[in-house]
Amino acid sequence: MLNMVIASKNKHKLEEIQAILRDLPLIIQSMDEVGLSHVEVVEDGETFEENSMKKAKEVMTQTGRIAIADDSGLEVDILENQPGVYSARFSGEGATDQKNNMKLLKMLENIPYEQRTARFVSVISVAFPDGKEIVVRGECEGIIGFEEKGEHGFGYDPLFIVPQYNKTFSELGPEVKNKISHRAKALEKLKREFVRALGGI
Ligand code: IMP
Repeated sequence: MLNMVIASKNKHKLEEIQAILRDLPLIIQSMDEVGLSHVEVVEDGETFEENSMKKAKEVMTQTGRIAIADDSGLEVDILENQPGVYSARFSGEGATDQKNNMKLLKMLENIPYEQRTARFVSVISVAFPDGKEIVVRGECEGIIGFEEKGEHGFGYDPLFIVPQYNKTFSELGPEVKNKISHRAKALEKLKREFVRALGGI
C-alpha cells in the first residue's frame, strides 16, 4: 500500500477522490489526518495547473509523501474565461456562492442563450517525493442560465445548464453530476495515469 495525502480540507473532494481511486493500492489521507490542518497554501497562480501543482508540491515537501491537489473553476466564453482561477472569490472580499452567482448574472445581462457558453474546469496535480509529477485536466461544457435553478450542489451549480439534459447541475443532483462533471473526468484520467506511474498495478 502507498500512503498519499490530499492537499484539500474539503471533505467532499476527499470522498470523491477516494471513491474513484478505491481499487488502487493507495491509502489517501486528508491534511487533518496527517496533522497539517494549519497549513494554508496561497493560490496565487494564473492557471489551474500552477495552483494545483503548487499545493501538491508544498504538501509533498512537508509530509514526504505523494501529495494530490486540485484546483477548479468556471470559464465563461464571452467574459474571456472569467471568473477562471478567481471563481471562489469572484465577488471580492467576503465572497459567497450567492454573491458570485449574482455578479455573474449581472455581467451576462442581455446576453442571449447561445452566447452564454461556459465550462467547468478541474485540474488535479500529483507530486511524488522522487520528483515525478502528474497533471490531468477535466472539462464539462455548459450554458449559464438566466436564473438560479435547483437545490443540490454548491458554487455555480444552480446557474450551470448541461445542454444534454437541459437542466442545471443543481437540478440534476450528485448522482448525475458526479458521472459527467469536470472533476469526475479529471479523476478518471488520474486513475489511468496512476496505474502507469505506479508501474501497471
Ligand atoms: P476550488 O477548486 O476549491 O478553489 O474551487 C473553486 C471555485 O470554483 C469554487 O468555490 C466554486 O465557486 C467553483 N467551482 C468549482 N467546481 C465547481 C462545481 O463543481 N460546481 C460549482 N462550482 C464549482
